[in-house]
Amino acid sequence: KKINIAIDGPAAAGKSTIAKRVAEILGMVYVDTGAMYRAITLLHIQQPDKEIDDLVQSIDLKIVNDNGQRIYLNGIDVSDRIRANDVTLNVSKVASFASVRTKLVKLQQEMTENKGVVMDGRDIGTKVIPDAELKIYMIASVQERAERRLLDNQNRGIEATLEELIIDIERRDHLDMTREISPLTKADDAIEIDTTGMSIEEVTNRIIELARK
Ligand code: C5P
Repeated sequence: KKINIAIDGPAAAGKSTIAKRVAEILGMVYVDTGAMYRAITLLHIQQPDKEIDDLVQSIDLKIVNDNGQRIYLNGIDVSDRIRANDVTLNVSKVASFASVRTKLVKLQQEMTENKGVVMDGRDIGTKVIPDAELKIYMIASVQERAERRLLDNQNRGIEATLEELIIDIERRDHLDMTREISPLTKADDAIEIDTTGMSIEEVTNRIIELARK
């Protein structure tokens, strides 16, 4: 039986790493919705004089699944560019625009229609796939999230200190949890997993077990 899995939680809780693994093991499609908000943010950085509402209307976003997810903005692969600090600093503000959320939620819902997606984000279980067969709410201590992000950044060649990462994570969590439209919150029927002190394998196995029930 084909199912959809929704994974939500605060910044750098390990959602995308785990979602990608789970999708691989179960032969499902992995969708990182944060990348979509990041791509619109990049477009806004590139075209600061245009209204965000107008940018959204004409945006051409393409998601390609090949051993993970690649994202194309107006024909260009921006998968690495969207991880840079300028995008990370601005994304939560851009993600609070109604026009942005309406557009991206619609695109995301279209991707879930044939089932078999593992989708990670902030409002997947509450808004994008409210009828998902399995909903996970993933959390971890701020310290551990910042340490994981530090390693991740080093692998990507992005510079930031642990202190800067702690500040960024807390700032984004606050913005994401207090915005007016679809704020980050645990769906009533989501299963919470605190990944602090857990390995990638342990968290992955836990979700696979839940998905096979
Ligand atoms: O998942 P990631 O940290 O890359 O997401 C970047 C930002 O995009 C989040 O901090 C949040 O502001 C926004 N976002 C969102 N809704 C989603 C996914 C991401 O608002 N479903």
